[in-house]
Amino acid sequence: MTAKILDGKIMSTELKTRISEKTEKLKEQGIVPGLAVILVGDDPASEIYVRNKQKGCEEVGFYSLTIRMSGTASQQELEDEIDRLNQDPKIHGILVQLPLPAHLDENSALMRILPEKDVDGFHLINAGHLMTGTAGVTACTPKGALHMIKSTGLDLTGKEAVVIGRSNIVGKPMAMLLLQENCTVTMCHSRTKDLKAHTLNADILVVAVGKPGIITADMVKPGAVVIDVGINRVDGKVCGDVDFAAVSQIAGWITPVPGGVGRMTIAMLLSNTFDAAERTLQHA
Ligand code: NDP
Repeated sequence: MTAKILDGKIMSTELKTRISEKTEKLKEQGIVPGLAVILVGDDPASEIYVRNKQKGCEEVGFYSLTIRMSGTASQQELEDEIDRLNQDPKIHGILVQLPLPAHLDENSALMRILPEKDVDGFHLINAGHLMTGTAGVTACTPKGALHMIKSTGLDLTGKEAVVIGRSNIVGKPMAMLLLQENCTVTMCHSRTKDLKAHTLNADILVVAVGKPGIITADMVKPGAVVIDVGINRVDGKVCGDVDFAAVSQIAGWITPVPGGVGRMTIAMLLSNTFDAAERTLQHA
């Protein structure tokens, strides 16, 4: 079997076209969706992510603001900036680029963002909404991954879904989303005893570990949907967690890295920001 490629470039372009059309309509009602990104320090990878987010905003016609703070900024300075953006009516989404320098308290900064402006979906209120299945902002990467899974057209009800990785930003919200789709969900992590025994059972396999090649062809059920969230750099090249060349001979569908989930993450960030802007219309 040769897997069908779930192409993040194509899917994210389609999503951005739709967001851009809806943005034109929202602008006619006097609202320009606005996204603010706070970047503390000068981590080169973060610089790239922030630039891509700015570019995404430009593509769909959003107002975008990047706030650069020194790597020595204090917690108070960071939270004052968040407070200011919370009050700014031009800003509908606020994102604090992670990781923050070690002396700063990431959790406290994220909790400072108003839940309705938390377009990353990391605030405890939004995590709680996801847990309880009520309306909130869903984290961008798992939301994008689910969009890709649904694009296969498979009926997800009753499917065996295995999520590898249990972080608050990818693994856990991913498992919740799949549970909401009526999958039977198994979560694996570094203490899982026999990873292969679980992965071989997966109709849907989401890998969010950060270890290149952790998923090999002998670990994948024929015909499975394989979503590779991992972003790694090997010999200067970006790759995922899955042995793409071999697994694509076994799986039914697979996401490439680059050009897969990463593209969808930005599209979903734009989608969450659009929704936040549109909500202000309902509350006007
Ligand atoms: P974390 O480091 O927070 O979590 C990694 C998870 O992998 C942990 O739960 C860990 O288990 C688990 N793990 C580690 N080793 C193994 C192993 N040998 N077997 C099974 N599980 C293991 O990472 P993130 O969730 O933040 O990110 C995961 C990957 O996704 C990274 O490569 C990151 O760069 C990428 N990423 C990509 C995004 C995108 O847009 N495409 C967005 C966000 C992240 P334990 O909890 O036991 O330690």
